[in-house]
Amino acid sequence: MRNREHPVIAIDGPAGTGKSSVTKLLAKRLGYIHVDTGSLYRSIALLSLSKGVDTTSPEISPRDENTIVEVAKTAKFEFKLDPMKNPANRILLNGEDVTRQIRTPEVGMAASKVSAIPEVRGALLDLQRKLGGSGGTILEGRDIGTVIFPDAEIKFFLTASADERAKRRLAELEALGQDAPTFKEVKRQISERDLGDSTRAIAPLKKAKDAIEIDTTMLTLDEVVGLMERTVKDKWNGS
Ligand code: C5P
Repeated sequence: MRNREHPVIAIDGPAGTGKSSVTKLLAKRLGYIHVDTGSLYRSIALLSLSKGVDTTSPEISPRDENTIVEVAKTAKFEFKLDPMKNPANRILLNGEDVTRQIRTPEVGMAASKVSAIPEVRGALLDLQRKLGGSGGTILEGRDIGTVIFPDAEIKFFLTASADERAKRRLAELEALGQDAPTFKEVKRQISERDLGDSTRAIAPLKKAKDAIEIDTTMLTLDEVVGLMERTVKDKWNGS
């Protein structure tokens, strides 16, 4: 028996696999809500950095860890539809619009570090379940199909070669008008994040057993979304 009128769709995978672009387009085509869970970790990282924490050393100091956990536990998020770029969401943390600032490579690296702290993951758990639980939702992240919604009706796991992922991430940064680092540096940052994300003790990045894996290296955005849309329709309407 179905628990929801519309499915929860989980899209996980490492950085630069095109998750965000794919999720945005798929959400638009299906008329579903897009939840970018990475933006929550990025926001916690941004605010923690502004409070002076250092996430660049191999170990975060106990004092900095306390600050980060406090930021995560007291964070108040709001999401708004961007009237100019519907259905892109704007994200507000404690009343401040951080949509743009969270997109830098530095914040991405810091997000990977803060997301390994169990209390930070714990603080964001209920919010993610609330945002996605009603169904008709697509959540993208690292642990959606394994931890946040192990009961998601449809799960995808996206991959792509390291070179292709670095190329896409670089193009994304350039499109955002950011001072993009070199290709080599982007590739290094992505590998460092992947290593951290997939080896952390809690909720590591990994494919859920029942997730459909799609290697997007040789596929266009349209091809990936088309494939997913057909899968959703087959799986959901056929169930
Ligand atoms: O997806 P995005 O690159 O914006 O995520 C930034 C970082 O947030 C990731 O490298 C990962 O460490 C963390 N993250 C996570 N769990 C999620 C989403 C993101 O740990 N569900």
